[in-house]
Formats: sequence, C-alpha cells, structure tokens
Amino acid sequence: MRIKTPIYLDNNSTTQVDPRVLEAMLPYFNDRFGNASSNHSFGWMAKSAVENARDIISDFLKVSSKNIYFTSGATESINLVHLGLTENVNPKSFHIITSNIEHSATAESLNHLATKGFDVTIINVDKTGTVDPDRITSAIKTNTKLISIIFANNEIGTINDVKTIGQFCKEQDILFHVDATQAVGKIKFDVSEMNIDFLSFTAHKLYGPKGIGTLYINNNNPKAKLARRLFGGSQEGSIKPGTLNVPAIVGFGKAIEICSEEMTKDYEHTVTLRDKFYKNIVSNLDGVSINGTMKDRLPNNLNFFVEGVRADKLMLELRDLAFSNSSACASGSTKPSRILKALGLTDEQALGSVRFGFGRFNTIAEIDYASQRVIEAVNKLRTLSKDKLQFHKQNIEQI
Ligand SMILES: *Cc1c(COP(=O)(O)O)cnc(C)c1O
Repeated sequence: MRIKTPIYLDNNSTTQVDPRVLEAMLPYFNDRFGNASSNHSFGWMAKSAVENARDIISDFLKVSSKNIYFTSGATESINLVHLGLTENVNPKSFHIITSNIEHSATAESLNHLATKGFDVTIINVDKTGTVDPDRITSAIKTNTKLISIIFANNEIGTINDVKTIGQFCKEQDILFHVDATQAVGKIKFDVSEMNIDFLSFTAHKLYGPKGIGTLYINNNNPKAKLARRLFGGSQEGSIKPGTLNVPAIVGFGKAIEICSEEMTKDYEHTVTLRDKFYKNIVSNLDGVSINGTMKDRLPNNLNFFVEGVRADKLMLELRDLAFSNSSACASGSTKPSRILKALGLTDEQALGSVRFGFGRFNTIAEIDYASQRVIEAVNKLRTLSKDKLQFHKQNIEQI
C-alpha cells in the first residue's frame, strides 16, 4: 500500500476536522447563517442549533446545559476563570495553587496575577510528570481560594489525579479549575463526582474546528462566580459577549457527539498505534527512553528522548512526518521545554526529545512507515555525529 505523506502525527497540537463535523457545519455558513441573537426565523434557526450543541456537550459531561458557556477556546476559558475570580479581590486574601506542568494559558495568566500581588504556589511534579495530591494538601493555606490544575498534559500526556484533588477542594471549600483540554473525548471522567467548579476545553483537539471552546461553571456553588472581563452584549451570560460563532458551535457539538459514541474505539485505536510505534522504535534503537510515565498517560501521546540526537535536526531529516520537538506554542525557540525540564531532564535530554500524537485518522500502515523512517533518520544522524555523540555520552555520565 502506498503511504500518502506527509503523515500527521501531531494530534496533541491539533486534530483535523472530522468529515462528519464539517458536513454538520456547512449549512450554517450560508443557508442558516443567522445571528443567534436575532428575533426572526433566521435567528431562531441559529439559536436552536447553538442550544442543541450546548445540550450535546452538557449531556456528555452529565451537567446542566445552563452551566455551559461557549468561548473562543481553552485559552480564553482559562483566562476568564483566573481573571474573573480575582477582579475585585484583595490580592493578599486570595492564594492560588497550581502546578509546574500547566499549559501556558494557565502558567501565564497566573504569572500575571502574581505580578499584581496575588500569592501563587506552584507545585513541582515528580519524575513521572504527575502532581502528587499530598503536595497540594500541604500547600493549602487559610486563604487558599483556588486550585488550578491541568487534567492531562499536552506534551507528555500524563494524567493527574483530579478526583483526589477535587475531594480536598470540596472538604476545604476551595474553588477547583481543571484544564481538561487534552482529556475530554480521550478518557472517561465525571465532572460532578470530581467536584470540579470550572472546566476548560477546546474543540480543535477533539476533531472539531479551531477557535471554539467551552467553559463549564458549577453554578450550584455560590462562590463560583466570575466578574466580567469582556464587555459588550449579553451573550453567554455576559461572560463571553459577542456574536456567537454558530458554525463552529455546531461543529463542536457534532465533534462531542462523535466522541461520546466512539471514545472507546478511538482509545483502543490510538493505544494500538502508539504502542506499536514505540515497540518498533525501542526494539530497533538503543538509547531511547520515555518521558513521563506509561501508567497514567493519554492513549494518544508519546514523548521520548533519543540519546545523541537533536530533536530539531531529526525533524529536518523527517519532513515526511509531522511531529513535534516540544509544545507547539513553544516551538520556534530552541529553549528546552519547561515541561520536560520540570521532569528533571537536562537541557540535552529535553532538546533530544520528541512528541508523537496519534489520532482517529492514523493507520497501522502509517505507523509502520513512520517508525521505520524514525529509525533510519536516528541511525543516520548518530553516524554523522559519532564523535560528538561519544563526547555527549561522557558528558551525561559525569552528571
Ligand atoms: C491546546 C491546549 C490549550 C489551549 O487551547 P486553545 O484552543 O488553543 O486556546 C490549553 N490547554 C491545553 C492542555 C491544551 O492542550
């Protein structure tokens, strides 16, 4: 079978729109183009499509549709939570706990709050790349108001024990925000059972369109109230004013509907591809090691260090494969990934690490081709830099 290249293996960065999602969206660009706020048949048609998508998403999360707010993506949802909770608050009275493996949307918005005088505690992860819930409990102070934690990491795929952390939050009456962008549609979880007050995620990581996301707010908790950070119309409870992106919302709903039906199938498919790919690599190459842990890991993520090879060189060698040398947001810079550094990797190890993200549309034939190409390219680069490699190895041993 002929393989069509380039092969897309970067599904933790974004996913292609599922053809069924695109088909559902198309009528809302022309035939049903109305503004969901208009009070006439075009508006009603758009509004009913939006509410249908909201129902699909809330059913999927097993929450009330009143708790679902559409945003432009996870970045905006996360910012709305962090900035909305702290808007009219004395910084000294509001302590926040987070981790050192957050997506930049969380890391940077909390960093902004820290510069405004808010007390932010960053919990370091262990070598496996997961947050130890005990370290969070130890960090709780009398004025701890918010815990903001990533569910599953976008670079190393590690899954945090959100349920245990949610339990503390409930016991201690602390608000709990979870960035579930990589988890939704990949792994099963229960929002209410986990005591989550705010949940952020985005459509384009689960075969929906870009530029549409959601924020779930637990409106049953009187403390889970966000001050306005954006001003305009009264759309989405005034939390996210502005004309709704109806085609994208419809696509988001369809993408979630497909996830709810096919999640188990997707899970098994991506685990099969991932494990086959990794097995091919490690049985043919020495000096390859996993970053993070295989135990609590997303089904579709692989991140590993290849000794003696620079990831950016490997990417140039493998233009027929689309993968990543660190998070997409951080690429373009040669700085080692802060997530890999958080695991305790050296700069060399971090710069020698690659991420592969497997998806619904990848095939076994693609995996065989791709793993073969990685093996060839690593062998080639290692032969070319043999002298340097010896030097590099000695360097690592000295540490
Ligand atoms: C992609 C991603 C985001 C940001 O999503 P956008 O839709 O780009 O705003 C946030 N958190 C995680 C874990 C992600 O993977």
